[in-house]
Amino acid sequence: MSRVNPGAYRAASARTIQNEPGVRDSVGSATRTFDANRVRAFGQIDSERWRDWARDVKTHALTNLDRYLEEAEMRLLANGAHVHWAESADDALRVLADVVARHDIRSAVKGKSMLTEELGVNDHLEQLGVRVRETDLGEYIIQLLGEPPSHIVGPAIHKSLDDCRRLFHAHLGTAPDATPETLAAAARDALRQDFLAADLGISGGNFLAADTGTVALIENEGNIRLSTSLPRVHVAFVGIEKIVPRLEDLSGLLQLTARAATGQPIGNFVSLIQGPKTNEEVDGPEEVHVVLVDNGRTELLADDVAWEALRCVRCGACLNICPVYRQTGGHAYGWTYSGPIGAIIAPGMLGLAKALPLPHASSLCGACVDVCPVRIPIPDLLLHWREQAVEEGLTTTAETIGLKAFTALAERPDAFSAAGALLRWTPWSAAGRSLPILGGWLQERSAPHPSQKSFRRLWEEGIE
Ligand code: SF4
Repeated sequence: MSRVNPGAYRAASARTIQNEPGVRDSVGSATRTFDANRVRAFGQIDSERWRDWARDVKTHALTNLDRYLEEAEMRLLANGAHVHWAESADDALRVLADVVARHDIRSAVKGKSMLTEELGVNDHLEQLGVRVRETDLGEYIIQLLGEPPSHIVGPAIHKSLDDCRRLFHAHLGTAPDATPETLAAAARDALRQDFLAADLGISGGNFLAADTGTVALIENEGNIRLSTSLPRVHVAFVGIEKIVPRLEDLSGLLQLTARAATGQPIGNFVSLIQGPKTNEEVDGPEEVHVVLVDNGRTELLADDVAWEALRCVRCGACLNICPVYRQTGGHAYGWTYSGPIGAIIAPGMLGLAKALPLPHASSLCGACVDVCPVRIPIPDLLLHWREQAVEEGLTTTAETIGLKAFTALAERPDAFSAAGALLRWTPWSAAGRSLPILGGWLQERSAPHPSQKSFRRLWEEGIE
């Protein structure tokens, strides 16, 4: 289910915190586990060197994007795949509609893919009369619930075990106190029928190696492998930023991504897809379509500062460590990509006005930059978008007035001293709550008592 409404972030996050305390517990617990696993997995390798290397590979690919994309297209065509270029979501969905019509597709199975969420693939298929089934367990859960993913890697991490028990009891008839193993087995049984019946398999693509035309897919459940090999047609939607120069580059990138995402040395299943099955092969689709999707990525690439966000490998590590994301999970962000990565790519891909206030949904603590496997300088990019918002006059009236008033005071030493004296005698916590910017902060915290003497006075008195 695709939806775009970052503008409602403040209200949506407040609603989640107040009305759904279970979300905070589930997300906090899952993200802390993910992060502990990442720390352990990074500790097993020379992670700093690997991160430098991965940053350089992705930077090189992005700065030579046209060349590598054309090379990948040439290889894919030579491998017998169909290649489509989609400038927008509508273009990508048109390709899908064409495939559906030409092959008389009635049912589809789908592997987890954030790009297909971004494009609204499921809604589109349903409009075309195609029954579509998510086959990743987390995606299956949220499809039954009619919700979008809450996390890049763990789409259902905002749900507790009891939530899943109730859901499966209602949909699959499992016992109300079923074990996680029983729930997984029930989902597997139901999905098996969907795999066997599907005419079309849909996937994303974690990487696309230009020199061989190989779409690489990482997963843990085997559902992507089934989705891409059982149905007679496979459509892979791949963001243009997923390109890497050589198949050899995957040896490091697949491992680093898995370690950052879940703490595994590598995903349980890695599928390398180059085209349809050959005459000698018994398994595999008869037709493979690779849709190379832009949908705002070249706009982001054109930004002198924010382009670095396109190195993202969608590991979710920055979400797991983010103290802001941990409070609400992903739905409050109002877009497919949540957390720090969502906040830095939304302005470039959706337009800054539409993406606000996401670049402000951060305390700028910098934890995200410490964990990012491709060294995206996330806090710098958040500040970049905040500066852009000021330059483009996109800040709120209260914020603009507040900052102008502060500037006026800061430029006049006497007025600044007088204002400081006034503040020292003000019931600070109560007054602060009504101020722009500080108001929200102080609703949940007590302000420290101001010093009874100004810094200047203390300095004059010789106190170090
Ligand atoms: S920005 Fe870095 S840490 Fe966050 S999802 Fe992307 S690659 Fe992972």
